[in-house]
Amino acid sequence: MRDNLRLCAVSVDLDEIPNYYAIHGLGEPSVPGASAVYDHAVDRLARLARTLRIPLTFFAVGSDLRTVANADKLRAASELGHEIANHSLDHLYDLTRRSVAEMTRQVQEASRLIHEAVGKRPTGFRAPGYVMTDELAAVLRASEIAYDSSVFPCPAYYAAKASAMALMVARGRTSRSIVDHPRVLAAPVRPYRMGTRFHLRGRSLVELPVQVTRWLRLPFIGTTLTLAGPRLARALTRTVVGEPVICLELHGIDVLDSDDGLADLAPYQPDVRRRVADKLETLEEVFGVLRGAGYAFVRSDEAAAQVVKGG
Ligand SMILES: [Zn+2]
Repeated sequence: MRDNLRLCAVSVDLDEIPNYYAIHGLGEPSVPGASAVYDHAVDRLARLARTLRIPLTFFAVGSDLRTVANADKLRAASELGHEIANHSLDHLYDLTRRSVAEMTRQVQEASRLIHEAVGKRPTGFRAPGYVMTDELAAVLRASEIAYDSSVFPCPAYYAAKASAMALMVARGRTSRSIVDHPRVLAAPVRPYRMGTRFHLRGRSLVELPVQVTRWLRLPFIGTTLTLAGPRLARALTRTVVGEPVICLELHGIDVLDSDDGLADLAPYQPDVRRRVADKLETLEEVFGVLRGAGYAFVRSDEAAAQVVKGG
């Protein structure tokens, strides 16, 4: 990969609200908040993208596209030039612990539903909960996936997730989330091609790791930025300037707040307590700093193509 590149790929995981209830070990969400990501977040992000002229990559959960209104939204987004990529069929947090047959179904059935919804086969994949294994990487290669973007080499996230889950066990709640093997922390932090092991370099599938800051490898993702607010987010953004490719991962929930029917979630997720207007302002600041530093915004498939070209 050329060192003088300055590309930023902004992706959005469209995890619908029941997934967050599952992480926190809560029951089923109540309406109307249960579908807030497709009802509100997709439109808000599409508006922001249009205003700022930024192409997005939406990682869609295949089963959500069985709802016609959701499929229509993503088709419209695709027609505007955004990329629709594969975030598995059912967003099973323990996907990597399932059989190869089930992993294959989760990848291929999601690709089929996305193809049917938007008229294009997805070429990118992101695993639920950032958990990757060599077995899942092999399934992706066998499923016409050109690039993956699941690896999150972030010690702070790893430690926080492990301790949050230990606390939940102590409190008698069960999360459906699982913790990745620590080998993920040995993976490159810049885009690379996987080898025989997913966390080592080779000539296989392209990996676009979820962005971490330089030195401390703090998470440079939507939730951290929107929680930080505009001023701190600007400072965090300066710590990634200079990276040839920045893979900024957002979630639909990054542009929602408790007024979107998410009051039940607010006690568990501090980011839901932040106002939407503030979150959007923060994201605008981040994009502004990156653009000012000479970054061109591209879709994740375009960023992946540059990795292949660069060897
Ligand atoms: Zn997800």
